[in-house]
Amino acid sequence: MNAIFREDLSRFDELLEQTAAYAGEFLRRMNELPVSMEVPEIPSAGLPEKGMGGSAALELFDNRFGSYLTASAGPRYFGFVTGGVTPAALTGDWLSSAIDMNAADKSSLAFALEKETLQLLRQLFSLPDAFEGVFVTGATMSNFTGLAAARQWLGQQQGVNVAEQGAGALHNVKVLAATPHSSVAKALSMLGLGRNSLVLLPTLPGREAVDVKALERWIAGNPGTPFIYVASAGTVNTVDFDDIAAIAALKHKHPFWLHVDAAFGGFAAVSPRFRHWLNGWEQADSITIDAHKWLNVPYDCAMLFSRHPKLQLEVFQNAGAAYLGDPAQNFNYINYAPENSRRLRALPAWFSLRAYGAEGYRDVVEQNVKQAQRLGEALEKSGHFRLLAPVKMCVACFTFNMEESKLADQIHVFLQALVKRGVVYVTPTQYAGLPAMRAALVNWRTTDKDTDLAFAELESVAASIRGLSAISANN
Ligand SMILES: *Cc1c(COP(=O)(O)O)cnc(C)c1O
Repeated sequence: MNAIFREDLSRFDELLEQTAAYAGEFLRRMNELPVSMEVPEIPSAGLPEKGMGGSAALELFDNRFGSYLTASAGPRYFGFVTGGVTPAALTGDWLSSAIDMNAADKSSLAFALEKETLQLLRQLFSLPDAFEGVFVTGATMSNFTGLAAARQWLGQQQGVNVAEQGAGALHNVKVLAATPHSSVAKALSMLGLGRNSLVLLPTLPGREAVDVKALERWIAGNPGTPFIYVASAGTVNTVDFDDIAAIAALKHKHPFWLHVDAAFGGFAAVSPRFRHWLNGWEQADSITIDAHKWLNVPYDCAMLFSRHPKLQLEVFQNAGAAYLGDPAQNFNYINYAPENSRRLRALPAWFSLRAYGAEGYRDVVEQNVKQAQRLGEALEKSGHFRLLAPVKMCVACFTFNMEESKLADQIHVFLQALVKRGVVYVTPTQYAGLPAMRAALVNWRTTDKDTDLAFAELESVAASIRGLSAISANN
């Protein structure tokens, strides 16, 4: 063994303690750390011929990068849809790296742990046992996996085995949706179905949810044409939900695959107050749910739930690899999703679900929604901002109370100032044709104090920016 490996092996405990202390210090400062910053260009350093050992590497890391660590897992980071990390989830994550088990290995504990965790998740979301689950790296991969099964189904309808013959053997591929996440088009591109196969249906007036009548009209105009429908269960701007029950009811008259993208909206299922938004989702063919958003486990983790594991097997099986066994006889998750070798991705979720239970997650969801609504009310009352949609769940979508032509510039300047100050982070968007901003609250750490602080910051930065533009307008 190389001398530096030997040295690190003998001091493993010490290194772990140093790392835990370092991580602990970072986590204790989570509320004070800036949520964002303008990181200067950091000169890159090359590969050393002779290593320095783990402790020195930790010190070097701290020297070079430590002052740029930001609280993106903290309570006032409202950008994108970003959860944090619960204490128990971190425990599970550290352990899955320490154990470093390849979850593909059926001779290990991994299979039992993944299976049990998926069962816990089915219970959390009240999904019927008919849904087989599988872990993937994120909702993008989950959408990809669900749509890959849908593609296989579409092939069956056309007498084609896409897994064998390729997507080129398909004709007239139509994927319908009203407000799909960008990852849906990305998945269609990766699947060889093409972004152009997406048919965008109109939404209900003032909503991001599909006009189901328009879907019925499309069906009437394309009698007997099998297609894929991607339902939104939680859009990123307004957390709107398609009427999944009304869409699913059309399946009795017409063949289509119903995929539900419930990346974070799936968490409506954990609260009796919001469950109804998902009515009918139990009739879906496949469902995407992210874990690194509202489950608050570390990146990167999501699930696909599907009623058609056989179709997944056709697409994802490792056929003819004797050492992996016969995919049809020997159940292994690697034959149901893109990844083969995988970390024990279930463990952080297992720990967090056991540690906090259904009640813990119900509280996180209900509190985050209350906080987002409170923030929304404050924004609506403020002279600077206006809400662009009612705050249905965890996202406030807003813009400046000003002339539309000036919005884009104003938002740009405003967000730059916010990033520099690092108190609250929100991301720009476009809604109803207007430049806008959105604050997404899905972090277990967020308190009412944080939303008050965040609002005060938005107000004061808006006031200072508008003061500046008023001055420059007068000059
Ligand atoms: C976040 C999100 C995705 C993509 O998820 P990743 O985890 O970033 O891959 C897909 N759909 C919806 C609705 C989302 O909110």
